[in-house]
Amino acid sequence: MGKVQEGKSKLSELYFATARSYTLDEFNERMSKIEEIDPRIKAYLYDIGYHRWSRVHATVNRTWTMTSDIVESLNAVRDSTDYVHTVLDGVRRYIICLENKRCSCGQFQLDELLCPHALAALRHRDESFEEYYSPYYTRANLLRTYEIPVNRLPDESKWNMPQHKSEEVVNPST
Ligand SMILES: [Zn+2]
Repeated sequence: MGKVQEGKSKLSELYFATARSYTLDEFNERMSKIEEIDPRIKAYLYDIGYHRWSRVHATVNRTWTMTSDIVESLNAVRDSTDYVHTVLDGVRRYIICLENKRCSCGQFQLDELLCPHALAALRHRDESFEEYYSPYYTRANLLRTYEIPVNRLPDESKWNMPQHKSEEVVNPST
């Protein structure tokens, strides 16, 4: 791989890792690496709007901010402290609220699927996990995805396109 090519694939890897970040800390750390490589890309991603491509900024599913707001949020759930657990994972400490299905790692509420910390809390409570993941993940609902017919796209050679369009080469923005 040439040097430019190598830089590009590193950037795209970094971009996807940034988009998939579960916490703002993770996001910001990866974003600053992107900026180091090319500040114009950071500006470009900012202009698009972080909420359009970054999981941690997505406007769906976010009623909490996972950084400094955590104390406030825990105050809000103080009536149900039974549901709040702290799990130590190596040197990191995670706070889980089972009632609100949230964990400070971010994964629980964003994927609507139990993270390892929530699983540990449930195991501690000797409780089963069925109630804690989104119905999207049930077998029945997964199978329902295929109830609607999905049409295959014909081979590219059969596409009916005006020639000037098919000859157009769209390069990624620089
Ligand atoms: Zn977690």
